[in-house]
Amino acid sequence: MAASDRKLASLLTEIRGCRICEKYLSHGVRPIIHASTRARICIVAQAPGIRVHETGISFNDPSGDRLREWMGIGREVFYDEDKVAIIGMGFCFPGFDAHGGDLPPRKECAEAWQEKLFAALPVFDLTLLIGSYAFDWHLKRRAKKNVSETVKAWRDYTPALLPLPHPSWRNNAWLAKNPWFAKDLLPYLRRRVKQALKEE
Ligand code: SF4
Repeated sequence: MAASDRKLASLLTEIRGCRICEKYLSHGVRPIIHASTRARICIVAQAPGIRVHETGISFNDPSGDRLREWMGIGREVFYDEDKVAIIGMGFCFPGFDAHGGDLPPRKECAEAWQEKLFAALPVFDLTLLIGSYAFDWHLKRRAKKNVSETVKAWRDYTPALLPLPHPSWRNNAWLAKNPWFAKDLLPYLRRRVKQALKEE
């Protein structure tokens, strides 16, 4: 095993044993990460939802189906860790808020792990940033005033990074109001995914 593989494997073991914010996690600790040193694409999202928590598989829900459609790939490629790494800004399901929505990712998680993890991951051809927590951490001051403005400015972050809205049904109205997303950004995304996976 190469040194880079050993470094990542040891860090993933450490993360999978993490209990830092256990007392705040109503559904218990279950860190979920898909990663390898050979992945060419990275997806940085928010935090697992309940279905992901229960199955241990990221984006194993209708949002994931839409994200795969956006990327132009099926489950087989999406869940091949040697092609696609899937990282949350929080690795465990944070629980529900008073209205039944998901709580935000625990801040402790990004503070403890995000930098260490990216130091052990490869340089990706393309990193997809999904939602405000990923924007705030990975774009820092380059993020615009809100998710919509940041996604609208997607060309500012390419070729390494591409900001996306969350592929949840909750964003259907936003998608309908912003037809440029399907017309301009998605064809670019699909082309870059193909290139990164060396399919063209
Ligand atoms: S959310 Fe992150 S910091 Fe909290 S217990 Fe899970 S892995 Fe550890």
